[in-house]
Amino acid sequence: MGKQNVPEIFGSNVFDDRVMRARLSADVYASLRKTIDENVKLDEDVAEAVASEMRDWAVEKGATHFTHWFQPLTGVTAEKHDSFISPSPDGGVIMEFSGKELIKGEPDASSFPSGGLRATFEARGYTAWDPTSYAFIKDHTLCIPTAFCSYSGDALDKKTPLLRSMQALNRQAKRILKLFGNDAKYVRTSVGPEQEYFLVDVNEFNKRPDLVYTGRTLFGAMPPKGQELDDHYFGVIKPRVTEFMEDLNDELWKLGILAKTEHNEVAPAQHELAPIFSTTNVATDSNQLMMEIMQKVARRHGMVCLLHEKPFAGVNGSGKHNNWSMATNDGTNLLSPGETPYENAQFLLFLCAVIQAVDDYQDLLRLSVATAGNDHRLGANEAPPAIISVFLGDELSGILDAIKNDKPYQGVEKEVMKLGVHCLPRFSRDTTDRNRTSPFAFTGNKFEFRSLGSSNSIACCNIMLNASVAESLKQYADRLEGAENFEDELHALIKEVITKHERILFNGNGYSDEWVKEATEVRGLLNLKTTADAMPYLLKEKNVKMLTEHKVFTETELESRCEIMLENYCKTVNIEGHTMVDMVRKNYLPAIEQYLQRLAKTTSLMKSVSSNVKCNYEISTMERLSELTDYILLRVEDLEKALEELKECDDVVKTSEAIRDDVIPKMEHLRKHVDEAEMLTSEESWPFPSYGKLLFSVY
Ligand code: ADP
Ligand code: MG
Repeated sequence: MGKQNVPEIFGSNVFDDRVMRARLSADVYASLRKTIDENVKLDEDVAEAVASEMRDWAVEKGATHFTHWFQPLTGVTAEKHDSFISPSPDGGVIMEFSGKELIKGEPDASSFPSGGLRATFEARGYTAWDPTSYAFIKDHTLCIPTAFCSYSGDALDKKTPLLRSMQALNRQAKRILKLFGNDAKYVRTSVGPEQEYFLVDVNEFNKRPDLVYTGRTLFGAMPPKGQELDDHYFGVIKPRVTEFMEDLNDELWKLGILAKTEHNEVAPAQHELAPIFSTTNVATDSNQLMMEIMQKVARRHGMVCLLHEKPFAGVNGSGKHNNWSMATNDGTNLLSPGETPYENAQFLLFLCAVIQAVDDYQDLLRLSVATAGNDHRLGANEAPPAIISVFLGDELSGILDAIKNDKPYQGVEKEVMKLGVHCLPRFSRDTTDRNRTSPFAFTGNKFEFRSLGSSNSIACCNIMLNASVAESLKQYADRLEGAENFEDELHALIKEVITKHERILFNGNGYSDEWVKEATEVRGLLNLKTTADAMPYLLKEKNVKMLTEHKVFTETELESRCEIMLENYCKTVNIEGHTMVDMVRKNYLPAIEQYLQRLAKTTSLMKSVSSNVKCNYEISTMERLSELTDYILLRVEDLEKALEELKECDDVVKTSEAIRDDVIPKMEHLRKHVDEAEMLTSEESWPFPSYGKLLFSVY
């Protein structure tokens, strides 16, 4: 592994442009390309021809099955395999795959969450081919990336609204570009998601029911060593992990995924993999695949890849950084400052559009990354706070400030800067930008949204980001298209936007208590700490209005999504609560009881031999442990009661609030006592592997 010729294996399992060009007739290729690039509807004949070539190619590569591959609202990908076989009259089989099968599928997918959508319309959903994301072969199966909808057209997945949001942004960005004399064919958003994960030994993993059931540890005392020495970050990668990474890269490259940078992260056993950026829907598909393949390859190496946001208390959790930009079909990045005054003005306008979008739709961005798992990170001084703000760096902030106040920008000739007339002063990419405390940072030619959890689908935040930037651009286009003097209006507009939205700009320390105070009390920014707080904002009137006007969601879809996301939160925590009860009743309490017995026996045995022994260690440990078991009993009963009460509530918002206010605090309370008991009990008597074993088990 890892010794292969990379250009040769790269994309070898993908029906990509190279394969299409080589295998399809010129006409078929041209019309498929038109569908991919310009969203033109695909002809039936063309679909038939593509399907037939796709099948031949896949069969040559050893595929026996095909599947429509989609992203339901569970957050993980779904597939249902059908083989290509079709009986032939002579008793054998031939391999068949039709254009119809390529374009449309009807999985009986009625068990996927629909938030009531399908109950009221149709029981079945259908999948529709997304030709802009290439088909690929995985485990002898030809996978066709698809969108998943109900028969009435409601989106039941994450891809459909993502594609719609990309179209919305494309529509509005082209209007703006036209005003600058640019006739771009299309504008697309690109994303490069950096993915963090943990690796633990499979044997240790299997001994922990909390990891098996919930993906995170629900108990565990801190080991003597955590991440305080910073010796893991960018450290030498251990041989077993290196072998895993090499194997992983090979698998990803074969699937055409641009795996690029790998390194150790801050916490012990934590790592990161970053791909080179690509078009948003392709990047989304690739990230889903990457997460799946990481887990599969880890198993081959006797490890388990944990994608949970907070597998271990006390050390950093895992996130994902969503590097985002907009580019035209010729590759011009609209977030790159240009060389001429005109380009600069255009850059500033797009920059303003993002700033305004983040301010106007802070709530949507926040809720797009909200899950029970990610709630553990945001605001916990290891990830950005739950308050959304924008980091621009001092230089760019200075420039905006100068424009706003009609003041000369320091460094340039002492002239007040006029947009479209003067060049932007050259500003360097802020190298101090390792301001990891900012949720949304400008990094020279892209924005990095850093609040995502490691297991989040990147579709959600990009839907909101694309849609809200489309909305800013729409407002600007409406105003500028009717302007008498374009340059004057542009200048006035940019000044206005800066003035109105500067409250969202913050270059300081996002982890500090002062920021929380200033953000919420002085600037009026939102601080939505948990999923239960954030999710209901999806249905705020201004959000429904914007998202429906840009045709990203229908109102019904929004209602169903809000319900599904909250339900997901409730179910996740509910499973965690029950797992805790299970572990405490079946393992922790009995284990401590056994250990107490041993201490008690030892004490009475020793005392029977000699009246001089004091047995201070045995007796004091016994006393404290016995006290703790009493507390643990009380706490576990408390938790059981809280979990029981949830069953009586049939309103998902109220349930999520009860989870936030009642269940989670009770879980934390219970954990505290069990973790203390762990420190007093001999390791051999403790029923589960310690944090030390889990975090340092991979060599
Ligand atoms: P940094 O080290 O500043 O985080 P990198 O160059 O390592 O930046 O890039 C991080 C991620 O951002 C990579 O996935 C990279 O491909 C992606 N990226 C770079 N340029 C862009 C862009 N214009 N649009 C979207 N993503 C980008
Ligand atoms: Mg980065």
